[in-house]
This record gives sequence, C-alpha cells and structure tokens, in this order.
Amino acid sequence: MNSLNRRKFIQVCGGGLALATLPLTFSLHAASGARVVVIGGGFAGATAAKYLRLFGPDLQVTLVDPATAHVSCVGSNLVLTGETPIGELTKPFAALRDKYGVELVAEPAVSIDADNKRVNLASGATLDYEHVILAPGIDFDPVPGHDFNVMPHAWIAGAQTTLLQEQLMAMANDGTFVIAIPKTPFRAHTAPYERATVVADYFRRNKPGAKILILDANAAIAGMNRTFTAAFTGVYRDIVEYVPNVTVNAADALNRRLDITRDGTASSVTAEVINLIPSQKAGKLLFDSGLVPDGSKFAPVNPLNYESTLAGFSKVHIIGDSQSTGQAKSGHMANSQAKVCVDAILRDLAGLEPDPAPKTTAAAFPPITRRTASWTTVTYSFDAATMSMVASSSAEAPEPTKDVREEEGPGWLINLLSDSFA
Ligand SMILES: Cc1cc2nc3c(=O)[nH]c(=O)nc-3n(C[C@H](O)[C@H](O)[C@H](O)COP(=O)(O)OP(=O)(O)OC[C@H]3O[C@@H](n4cnc5c(N)ncnc54)[C@H](O)[C@@H]3O)c2cc1C
Repeated sequence: MNSLNRRKFIQVCGGGLALATLPLTFSLHAASGARVVVIGGGFAGATAAKYLRLFGPDLQVTLVDPATAHVSCVGSNLVLTGETPIGELTKPFAALRDKYGVELVAEPAVSIDADNKRVNLASGATLDYEHVILAPGIDFDPVPGHDFNVMPHAWIAGAQTTLLQEQLMAMANDGTFVIAIPKTPFRAHTAPYERATVVADYFRRNKPGAKILILDANAAIAGMNRTFTAAFTGVYRDIVEYVPNVTVNAADALNRRLDITRDGTASSVTAEVINLIPSQKAGKLLFDSGLVPDGSKFAPVNPLNYESTLAGFSKVHIIGDSQSTGQAKSGHMANSQAKVCVDAILRDLAGLEPDPAPKTTAAAFPPITRRTASWTTVTYSFDAATMSMVASSSAEAPEPTKDVREEEGPGWLINLLSDSFA
C-alpha cells in the first residue's frame, strides 16, 4: 500500500471511525423508549452505548460497569517507561452520560436471565432490556503459583500497569526482564512484542546492561512478525533474546522463578522482573451466563449482529474481546464491532434485517524506538458461504518511520479514544 493510500485508509478506519452504514432514515418510532443495556465500558461497550444514543435518541441506554472510568490498554506500554502518564489513558464514563444521555450503573453484572430479558446485578438489583450487549473483555486461565502482585500481567490496564512500571524503574541496571507470552488467541497479538521494543529502548537509555528475555508459547512472533523480527535481530540484538515454543507450567513468586518446558525439555528461569501474561478467555460474566459452550474459551456469535448463536439467547449480543469470530482482539476492532452491532440492533427495533455485508477494521501503531514507530491494518469482510468474517485486506509498514511515531500513531490513538469514550 503506498503512502497516500495508507493515509486514506487510516483516515477511514482509524481517523474517521464513523459508522457509514447506520440507518439514519429508519423510523425508530417502534423503538421509542426501548431499553438497551450495555455491560462493560471498554472500547466495545463504551462505543456501543455512545452510538446507540447518537443514532437512536429515543432509546434508553444503560451502561453497567463497576468502574467510573476506563483505563485504556491501547497505548499503555508507554506508561511502563514513563512516556505516557496513565491519566492520559483514563477515560471517565461521565462523558457518555453528560454528552449522550447514557444512564450509568456503577456495579458489576453477575448474569443474564435471557428468558426474562433481565440483567442481574451484584447488588441484587435487576435491569430489564429489549436488547443487551455484553462486552466484559477478558479473563485469565490460572498459572499455578502465579501471584499478580509479584509478577504482574499488565494485560488489563490500571494498577497492574503501574505496578509493572514501578518494578521496571526499580530494576538493577544489569537486571533481566522476562515477558512470558501465552498461546494465541489473546488480546492484541502485537502488544507483547511492542512491550519488548518500548522497554528495550528505555533500557538502552536508562539501564545499560539490562536484558529482555521473551518466552513465547507460540512457534513464532504472533503479530507483525516481519517488523518485530527485524527489531529483535537488528536494533535490539544486544538487549532482546526471543525464545519460541516455551510453555510456562508454574510460577514461584517468592523466588521470582518460572518453571518452563521448551521443546519437551523442562527447566526454570529466574529474573528480577517477570511479566507473566496468562492465556485468556472471555470475561467471567459470559461463563456464568451460559454463553460459552463447554470446551470453548470465547462466546460464539453471528457476525451480522453479534447475537449469541446459542439457543435461548435471542437479543443477547457479545462484542469485543469476549466473542469468538476469530477477528483480531483489539481496541480498534472492538470499536468497529460495536458499530456493526448498534446498526443491527437499530435495524431490528425498526423491524429490519441486519446489514448483509458488514466490514470491520483493526489497526496498531507500535513504537519501535523513541523516534520511530511501525503500523499494521486489517479489514475483515463478511463471507456468506461460511457465515464468518474473513481478513479481506491487510498491510504492514515496510519499515518504522518518524512520521508514524510522531504524527500518525498518536493521531490514531487520540481519534480511537475520543470516538469510543468522548
Ligand atoms: C498492552 C496492550 C496494548 C494494546 N495495544 C493495542 C493497539 O495498539 N491497538 C488496538 O486496537 N488494541 C490494542 N490492545 C487491545 C485492546 O486493549 C483490547 O482488545 C480492548 O481493550 C478490548 O476491548 P473490550 O471492550 O472487549 O474489553 P475491555 O477494554 O477490557 O473492557 C471491558 C470492560 O468491561 C468491564 N467489565 C468486566 N466485567 C464486567 C461485569 N461483570 N459487569 C460490568 N462490567 C464489567 C470492565 O470493567 C471493563 O471496563 C492492547 C492491549 C494491551 C494489553
């Protein structure tokens, strides 16, 4: 993709982030007063709540999230090195209430009663709905002995991010930082490798002699392989060691040790700072509501409207990292899915079928050094033959550049945050 086309593409999928297909001309008379409950105010849920009210002003939209603000994982690797204050990534839900009239309920949802179209909240209160959107993000598969307070995952942004930041800042100049990456699929396939480049740059400037050991459960770098292979074998070859096919069997918090298996051989690794990222599954709410089949980790949905494909869950939609369409698990994608889902709900309330040919997009702009960044984009289109979303086009930067680090990457993040939360 040439530079002009790429800029245009970024404008469309990252900068504009607008919903071109929303049925503005629909009569929403039938939907007047209908209540849509959105559970989870991350990139998926916040975007859905906002756009439901923007394009369905007669709807009663309730956003349920125990937090009062969302802390964005996107951009959070730069918090680890002190480049971005975490406050810049913290987006209060009050903006959705004050600007769009979204009703806020600050407590966790514990389950869905689909028969009675009701959400059960932790306090015992309930919320009735016409449609419900579930967007609780991810949960983790436990690693025996893993204490998050000693070996932070920093894969849900907030206190975990600042804990890992403190550990990295306090690390000895010749210390080792281990990043343990789970098997795919996990949230943000580029992000653990981005974490390595960002921290490697920080080490080069602040802790000469410090090393990064990447223990990857996958056979190869799972996101932007060309870009990160070049970084680890090029600019960071003296700092980063990348080891594929490593399974973490157990963690020993006291001794800061991981018991691992590599290619069938067991051994252990100790390090001053260990970022153990466990393998991932849908948010607990989905398991507790019966929305994830036995043996699965994510919730099956119809990608035309993100409604659960399980029997008995009509009008129950799942978007973002919790669903299992196989599309990238990313903030940009969660925002994109939210718009397809909102469109389908508005059509349903107006007695219409969903858009038969939705498209979704994802993007990332990982910093490689303090002065350069790379980018990747992917577009998915609906394939009627398989009833699935397939990657119809994708691109990766030929090489990291200054423009992407200074303008395109920050601009994309500002747009994504503002389109989702402001
Ligand atoms: C280090 C890192 C870097 C990343 N970089 C990028 C990037 O460059 N580009 C990109 O597009 N993506 C990136 N991502 C991925 C992105 O952050 C996630 O894919 C995105 O946050 C998923 O959105 P979501 O709405 O599904 O979940 P989340 O954003 O996790 O939101 C879930 C929300 O649900 C709430 N919740 C959970 N359970 C309940 C409940 N029972 N009741 C009520 N509320 C509940 C939570 O409080 C939370 O607010 C990155 C991720 C990480 C970790």
